[in-house]
Amino acid sequence: MGCNDRTATLGAKTKTTMQLNVILPGIYKNFLNASVLKLSVVETKATCDNCLRSRDKRFSYTYQSHLKCCTFHPYIPNFAVGALLTENLASPGLEKLKQKINSREFAFPVGVIAPFEYQFKFLAKEESDFGNDADLLCPYYDIDKNKCSVWQYRGVVCTSFYCRSDYGQDGLKFWAVLSDYLSYVEMALAEECLVQLDFSPRDLSDQLLYLNKLDFESSEAVQKTLAVEVDKKLWNGYENKIEFYQKCFAIIQKLDRNQFKEIIGSQGIELEKEVIDYAKRR
Ligand code: SF4
Ligand code: SF4
Repeated sequence: MGCNDRTATLGAKTKTTMQLNVILPGIYKNFLNASVLKLSVVETKATCDNCLRSRDKRFSYTYQSHLKCCTFHPYIPNFAVGALLTENLASPGLEKLKQKINSREFAFPVGVIAPFEYQFKFLAKEESDFGNDADLLCPYYDIDKNKCSVWQYRGVVCTSFYCRSDYGQDGLKFWAVLSDYLSYVEMALAEECLVQLDFSPRDLSDQLLYLNKLDFESSEAVQKTLAVEVDKKLWNGYENKIEFYQKCFAIIQKLDRNQFKEIIGSQGIELEKEVIDYAKRR
């Protein structure tokens, strides 16, 4: 799910000086703490182009090289969906996103999430299915190119996943702390878009019930799309979903550092400090 083409994107010279801002979706550069953006993220062991985990027998089990760690369906927040739609760069992932939006496949104002059918399958999997079960492959994966096709705006879970770190456990801990921080930021920004576009906290909590569900009725375990009336209610009168997501992108594009700090509040600032602290411990 993580870095599967970052080594392809970056030349060897760049890799030796790589900073977090190079692997983060560009939208974050306007407002994330400069010290966080400049953190070194050089990782030479997790060679995603030639997936380490598909050939290194020291892991408890190996992944298939054409699936890697992308047997996962990430949440893509509203503003990132809007970014992909606005930039409109041809990719199988963008086509899949459009298809999901048009067919009510769990495309919510807060973002696009895995349908219940996928969530159920993912929860029921055996540990070794991760990296091995092609049915779990991310819908945004480019099978022909064997890499992510929405890399520039992939979700933060994907951005911060590394199967091995040059810094051992301290490095993996850093990535986990960064993931917590970025997940918090991602949701805070998606919520800010909803607030600015007239959704109430209740509207948001109604949508979040669809994210990370743990108990499924039998009908839900096979559910791929939302019923028309449910979808309509959740969208609160918005009919042009593409335009809505693009508005979200425009909102986040305009944010400066001060506005961002207000949005993430003291909890976000604390998490930010923790990221810097764990980076130093590596
Ligand atoms: S969004 Fe990209 S990196 Fe993330 S799981 Fe899908 S294909 Fe992999
Ligand atoms: S399993 Fe490891 S090496 Fe393979 S793509 Fe994922 S993070 Fe990269």
